[in-house]
Amino acid sequence: MSHAYRPGMNIWIQATDEERATASERLASIVRAHVDDLVKKFYASFLAHDDGAAFLDHSVVTNRLSHSLRNWLLELVSVDPLGDLTKFDQRQVKVGEVHARLKIPNHLVMEGITLLKTEISLKVADLDLDSTETAKTIILLGELMDYALRLMTEAYLTDTDRRTRTDEAFRLLSLGQDIHLERETQRAALMEWSQSVLFSLFGNGSQNIAKLANSAFGLWVRHRGAVIFQGAPQLDSIKTIIQLIDTDVLEQFASDPNAAVANLEVQIGEIRYHLNDLFDAASNIENGRDPLTRTLNRRFLPSVIAREISFAKQTSTPLSVLMVDIDHFKSINDTHGHAVGDAVLSHVADILLTTVRPTDFVFRYGGEEFLIVLVEADTDQTIAIAERIRTRVAQKAANIPDRQPVRATVSVGVAAFEGHPDYQYLINAADEALYLAKKAGRNRVETGRSEQRGLSSS
Ligand code: GH3
Ligand code: MG
Ligand code: MG
Repeated sequence: MSHAYRPGMNIWIQATDEERATASERLASIVRAHVDDLVKKFYASFLAHDDGAAFLDHSVVTNRLSHSLRNWLLELVSVDPLGDLTKFDQRQVKVGEVHARLKIPNHLVMEGITLLKTEISLKVADLDLDSTETAKTIILLGELMDYALRLMTEAYLTDTDRRTRTDEAFRLLSLGQDIHLERETQRAALMEWSQSVLFSLFGNGSQNIAKLANSAFGLWVRHRGAVIFQGAPQLDSIKTIIQLIDTDVLEQFASDPNAAVANLEVQIGEIRYHLNDLFDAASNIENGRDPLTRTLNRRFLPSVIAREISFAKQTSTPLSVLMVDIDHFKSINDTHGHAVGDAVLSHVADILLTTVRPTDFVFRYGGEEFLIVLVEADTDQTIAIAERIRTRVAQKAANIPDRQPVRATVSVGVAAFEGHPDYQYLINAADEALYLAKKAGRNRVETGRSEQRGLSSS
């Protein structure tokens, strides 16, 4: 006799028709007799957890779910495990999807099912069958429950995953749209205020000029802007200028209107500059870039590098990683100050971004450390790119306003993908090569492999 494939239902398949019928009848009569008690115990275990209680304090939900669980249990023991399970399977998938939608933690469902198994098994033991019969009935119960639980969990995970993706995509989308709109609105609000100042000046003099702080733009800076751009230095600069305009510049209108108009223009220009900067930084955060260096945020590294590794494996194309670290950066900070350090950092990042090909990925890996993923670059190309980075940084000093240009050098560790599926392995190899470059005197490219060591030096 051959049966449809039933994952995990090995004993059910091996059993004779008579054994199956007996087991089904035993389980069904136990469940029918105790179903209300079983449902109660299931939810008691659920509610014993904080995260369970959070979902089920609504009595409506409790009643509905109790009802569903009751039906679920009764159907489970009345179904023929070797018959047509199409409808039954669909219902398990539905339950999993409902749990996902309600965000009911799956581990709590699993715990509840374990508890049900135990309770029903104890009742089986109470029947005083011989030990083989008892064991067999309990095993059959386990197979049946696990079969249903497997379908439920699969649907639960698929659905949760889909929901998470949608949520994230939606969040990014709406945030992006809002930021764009916000920028245009605030630019317009600022312009509107400065035009209204000029109008009132040419109309009825400087008597009732509204302060910028009290305009729509001023309100935005104090409230919504403060929320969106929490702690951004540009916002403080804008506030300072607003205060300057509202006191000095507006006062100047009475004594020297021409100078005041010119002055106002300059200050509004300043605000616009900071405003642009503020929004640029925000859109860089959104598209995953680090605001200072415009390189990619490290949190995207795992997905990018894992994807590139599987691509390299599938297509047998080369892939490599460069670890780039600025030499003695601490002393640059110590000598010139943190602001100059920042400028050097962003200067080096610019060189990295313009030296690699547009298809490569430059991540800010740590403070003054960058990780570059070079796609489809063989060893020669990789080393050539690393070498070009090193020489360009060494030759091109960072221009700092009102100061002497500042020179920096970088050390580069190179690692080629050699088939290890774990990306951390590749990153570690590049890190070890970087360490060798530092140890060998800095301003160097090292591959970490002996035959290619000592490629260049200062
Ligand atoms: P080595 O050649 O061995 O790499 O020496 P190092 O001084 O570059 O390395 P170390 O790790 O000792 O110091 C790195 C310094 O980088 C320390 C930290 O204050 C500074 N740093 C990290 N992130 C930033 C940043 O965003 N801006 C500035 N200005 N400095 C940073
Ligand atoms: Mg360093
Ligand atoms: Mg470092």
